[in-house]
Amino acid sequence: MIESPDDAHPGPPPSSIWGDETPVVDAVVGWAAQRVVTASDPKWTARPASELAAATGRTVTPEGIGHDEALRLFREVLAPATRAQDDPLNLAYIPAAPTRAAISFDLATSAANVFAGYWESGAGAIHAENQALAWICTLLGWPQTAGGVFVSGGTTGNLSALVAARHTAEQRHGRPEGRWRLACTSDAHSSIRAAARVMDVDVVEVPGDELGRLTGERLDAVLRDSPGVFAVVSSAGTTNSGVVDDLAGVADACERHGVWLHVDGAYGGAGLAAPSVRHLFAGIERADSFIVDPHKWLFAPYDACALVYRQPELARAAHAQRASYLDQVDRAEWNPSDLAVHLSRRARGLPFWFSLATHGTDRYTAAIERSIATARVVAETIDDSEHLTLCFAPHLSVVLFERVGWDDEQYRTWSTTLAKDGVILCLPTQWQGRTVLRLAFVNPATHAADVLAALESLR
Ligand SMILES: *Cc1c(COP(=O)(O)O)cnc(C)c1O
Repeated sequence: MIESPDDAHPGPPPSSIWGDETPVVDAVVGWAAQRVVTASDPKWTARPASELAAATGRTVTPEGIGHDEALRLFREVLAPATRAQDDPLNLAYIPAAPTRAAISFDLATSAANVFAGYWESGAGAIHAENQALAWICTLLGWPQTAGGVFVSGGTTGNLSALVAARHTAEQRHGRPEGRWRLACTSDAHSSIRAAARVMDVDVVEVPGDELGRLTGERLDAVLRDSPGVFAVVSSAGTTNSGVVDDLAGVADACERHGVWLHVDGAYGGAGLAAPSVRHLFAGIERADSFIVDPHKWLFAPYDACALVYRQPELARAAHAQRASYLDQVDRAEWNPSDLAVHLSRRARGLPFWFSLATHGTDRYTAAIERSIATARVVAETIDDSEHLTLCFAPHLSVVLFERVGWDDEQYRTWSTTLAKDGVILCLPTQWQGRTVLRLAFVNPATHAADVLAALESLR
C-alpha cells in the first residue's frame, strides 16, 4: 500500500496556504496601510547587529513565533533600525520619495503574484509596464520601436546594457585583437566599473572637463587611439555632483567611431520630464541604451530601474535564455526576461505605472521641477553667504558647497551630530580633491526654508 504523504509527514496542512490566514493578512496589511500615510521618523537609524540580536532574540524557530510577535518585532525593533528614505530632510546619497499611490500599488503587485518574464504568463502586467516605459522613450525622443524592461536597479541596468553593447559589437566586427574596453570618465557611477569587472573588460578613462563632464572632443581623441572600445558610458546626472555630460558631442563621437552609446540617467534621467533642464539632455535621442531609476527621482518605491534600448532586438540577441522547457513558451509579443541579465521577475514597474497613470505626467513634471527649484533657491542662498561657498550652480538637483575654513573632521562632526538628532541628513563628499558638503533633492516635500534653517548651524 502506498503511504499517503499526509500519514508520513504530519505537519502543516497542504490545503490553502497553511490554513486560515485572515488574521495575518489583516495585521500585516493594516500595518502597511498605516505606515504609508504616516510621516517617517528621521531618528530611525541603523543599530549594531549585537543590539538587534539582543532585542529580537531568535525569530526563526522550528515552531514559529507567530505573526503577532513577528510583526511586533518588525514594528518596534526592526523598522526603526532602518533609515527613513522619504524624510524631507534626508538629502544624502540619492534618497527616495515614493508617492502613496506607488507604495500601495507595490502591495497590489505582490498580491497579484505575476511572473512577468514572458508575455504568455504576464501579458497584462507587462502591457502596463510597457506604457510606462513608452513614456520614458517619448521623453528621450526615441522611435516607437524602442522598448525595454524594469530591472532591480541601475547596477543591473547598466550591466545589462553593456552586455548587449558588447554582443552587438562582436556580431558586427568580431572580437578585437586585444581586450574589450568601455570608455567613461572617472565620475561615471561605481556600477560601471563593477560591470566591467563582471564582464572582464577594461575601462578607458576619458578625462572630464572642468566640471568632470564627458565631452565629444576628449572622447573623440580617446576613441581614435583605443581599439576594442565597444561602448561609451555617459552620465545624465552624475550621482556625486548632478552634472550632465555633453551628450550631443558624445553622440557625435560615438557615431563617428561606430560605438554604442549608453546613457546612465539612474538619478538624473528624471530631469527629461522637466522643461527647465531638458536642454541639458540634447543629443540623448541618439543614444543606444538608457537607464533611469524610478526609485530615485520618479517617486516609486524600491526597487525599480527602467532600462530601455533603441533597438530591443539587439538586447534580445544578447540576453535571451534558451532551455528545452523555456523554448515551449510562446515568445510572441514582448518578453522582459529576454532583455537583461535575469529570468524570473516580478512586475516591478507596476507601482511606477500605477502612480503615473493615477496622477498623470503633468504632476510628475511639476514634482520634478519642484526639486530643481528647491535646489536653486538653496544654492543661491549659499552663494550669498559669507561663510559658505557654492562649488557651482546646480545642473539638476544636487548642490555641492563648502564651509569656509573647515577641515574633514569638522565636516564629519557637524554631519553626524545633525543626523543623530534627526535635524538633517547632509553628508560630506569629495569634489575635485576637496571635501565638500552635498545635498541631493528628489523629494517634493522638502522645503528650502527648512534646509536653510538646518544649515544655520554651519555658521
Ligand atoms: C544610483 C545610481 C546607479 C546605481 O543604481 P542602483 O539602483 O543603486 O543599482 C547607477 N548610476 C547612477 C548615475 C546612479 O545615480
